[in-house]
Amino acid sequence: MGVDIIPSDCAAGRHKPRGRPPADASGVTRGICRYCGISIMRTLATRSWYPSGLFGGRPDQASPSARS
Ligand SMILES: [Zn+2]
Repeated sequence: MGVDIIPSDCAAGRHKPRGRPPADASGVTRGICRYCGISIMRTLATRSWYPSGLFGGRPDQASPSARS
């Protein structure tokens, strides 16, 4: 369809959440990028926000297991 305009910060991987979302019990903070609107998350180990899809996992993309 149309071309999505990605803010330069987002294109560079620097997303910013709307407001200040609270961290959950495991220290993971989830939010919505105020610029591009994707779901983003941050862990205690990382100071940056990442698209949560990166960590969401794809059930169909398990590492190749033993093929014999
Ligand atoms: Zn963004």
